[in-house]
Amino acid sequence: MRLVLATRNAHKAQEFSALLAPHVVVALPDHVQLPPETGETFAENALGKARAAAAALDAVVIADDSGIESEALGGRPGVYSARFAGEDATDEENLAKLLADAPAGSALAYVCVIALVDPAAATEALFEGRCTGVLTDEPRGTNGFGYDPAFVPDDQTPPPPTRTMAELSPDEKGAISHRGRAASALLARLGT
Ligand code: IMP
Repeated sequence: MRLVLATRNAHKAQEFSALLAPHVVVALPDHVQLPPETGETFAENALGKARAAAAALDAVVIADDSGIESEALGGRPGVYSARFAGEDATDEENLAKLLADAPAGSALAYVCVIALVDPAAATEALFEGRCTGVLTDEPRGTNGFGYDPAFVPDDQTPPPPTRTMAELSPDEKGAISHRGRAASALLARLGT
């Protein structure tokens, strides 16, 4: 099946293409406008993006909203993960703020919600994935993106958990990540 992915994030597009094979993930055409992420939940933001793109294209669309929750920060930054250090903050600035604000070893969770909107069938569905971990003392690794250099996932193999998400291969990350788990739930729905 062809699935338009409503994102402008090249890292996410790359991850979804691998995670959703043999389905074909199609890039969002440039002219489609995505709404601002003003929702208070990942689901609200993901649905907003998927609905806007599906209405503009009359095609089956998926969109995700994702972020990181820090137990020491009461669940923040959550839906504000992309702008944790300010409205136009870079990934590096957001990562530095998390390392400054939360203690090393404190609990984290990555969360991803994928929205699937099929205008022809008039259906919508949501798929959630979570991945727990702890905050490293200093950033390590060059794979992945965003907060990956600071996130030590609990479920990595072989144990004990020592490597950051940015030190795992793309396949290792996809097998345990929030996005990988949400994508597995979507694949089950698509019948693959
Ligand atoms: P959004 O889903 O485009 O709103 O972005 C979510 C924010 O969470 C961005 O700052 C990302 O860097 C971060 N984020 C989401 N998924 C991941 C991931 O797999 N690794 C690292 N950071 C992530």
